[in-house]
Amino acid sequence: MLHRTAITDYLIVNPIEPQAEYLERASRLIREGGLVAFPTETVYGLGANALDPEAVQQIYLAKGRPLDNPLIVHIADWDSLESLTTEISEVARLLGERFWPGPLTLVLPRHPQVPLEVTAGLETVAVRWPKHPVAEALIRAAGVPIAAPSANRSGRPSPTEASHVMEDLVGRIELILDGGPVGLGVESTVLDLTGTVPTILRPGGITQEQLQAVLPEVRLGSASAAETASASAPESTAAPSPGMKYGHYAPEKPLILVEGELEVIRRQILETMAQLRANGAKVGILASLESYPIYKEASPPPDYLQVMGSRHDLADLALYLFKTLRECDLVDVDIFLVEGFPEHGLGLAIMDRLRRACRGQIIKPPV
Ligand code: AMP
Ligand code: MG
Repeated sequence: MLHRTAITDYLIVNPIEPQAEYLERASRLIREGGLVAFPTETVYGLGANALDPEAVQQIYLAKGRPLDNPLIVHIADWDSLESLTTEISEVARLLGERFWPGPLTLVLPRHPQVPLEVTAGLETVAVRWPKHPVAEALIRAAGVPIAAPSANRSGRPSPTEASHVMEDLVGRIELILDGGPVGLGVESTVLDLTGTVPTILRPGGITQEQLQAVLPEVRLGSASAAETASASAPESTAAPSPGMKYGHYAPEKPLILVEGELEVIRRQILETMAQLRANGAKVGILASLESYPIYKEASPPPDYLQVMGSRHDLADLALYLFKTLRECDLVDVDIFLVEGFPEHGLGLAIMDRLRRACRGQIIKPPV
């Protein structure tokens, strides 16, 4: 089945106090089975009525999303949670009270009323309460929970500005609410509460450290751990979070991630750049602020040098990560080299996204 063609309306919405008439228009579209892109604190989402199987199918078609990759359902009050899951455990309540609204998604047992199109056939459902005035007001005005993956074509970097949604989805969805750039830049943390131990399926905006401060037993699932995160992981690897087995966030041009100690990373990037150039390639480097002068002074310097942010401000780095990856496709370069970052705090989510973006092309030199 083909995606439906649509005339895409575009509204600039006040991100703090969204205009009532715009909310009315957007929520009516949602109730009528349409697709609306809207800002959240993490990235832009592509929303549909989560209780309408046909509307949900349109999300997959518009994005070109594999049908076995389930969607997160967004709510803006506690009562809605009861209509989505059969069991709100004490742990779920504790985490919800501590981190909602916010960038934490909880995987819970599915309520029979949640269409299997939303959960990709799973008996679990992923739920989140986003922390953004536009997202919350839209969900409340719609009066239904909203299923919403990131508002990008499948495989592309997630959208952190409305212009990214335009690039990917114009003509495929009914409305874009432009509430300006997002505040976080990486997606929510997906935490599975259906097993014996609470398990992070995807690192994101709420860090492992923040979760462990509330629940010390929280562990990192294998699909989000360093060794298996590359897109080159064999297809047969059991993926507890189906979406984690797909390559994601990738620019069209090849990207090589260089991991390890900072000194080793820098040496390796300079060496790899020289080798690639000897083969006639134009090379771009995505660097930390701290390493910028080192690459800048290389002779000859790289064909393109982009600062991603400081190694000491991972929140800032997260904010511009996807924008930087999108911009790779706009410059006249054949291949990009990107520095790895420390894996504490938001660094875990940043490295997860970079490992997927490079489609398994990772250099990890021995120290
Ligand atoms: P996206 O909305 O594109 O940011 O992706 C949603 C993520 O949540 C994907 O990695 C999905 O695999 C994951 N997810 C959604 N629902 C479930 C579920 N029921 N069980 C496990 N993972 C889920
Ligand atoms: Mg996504």
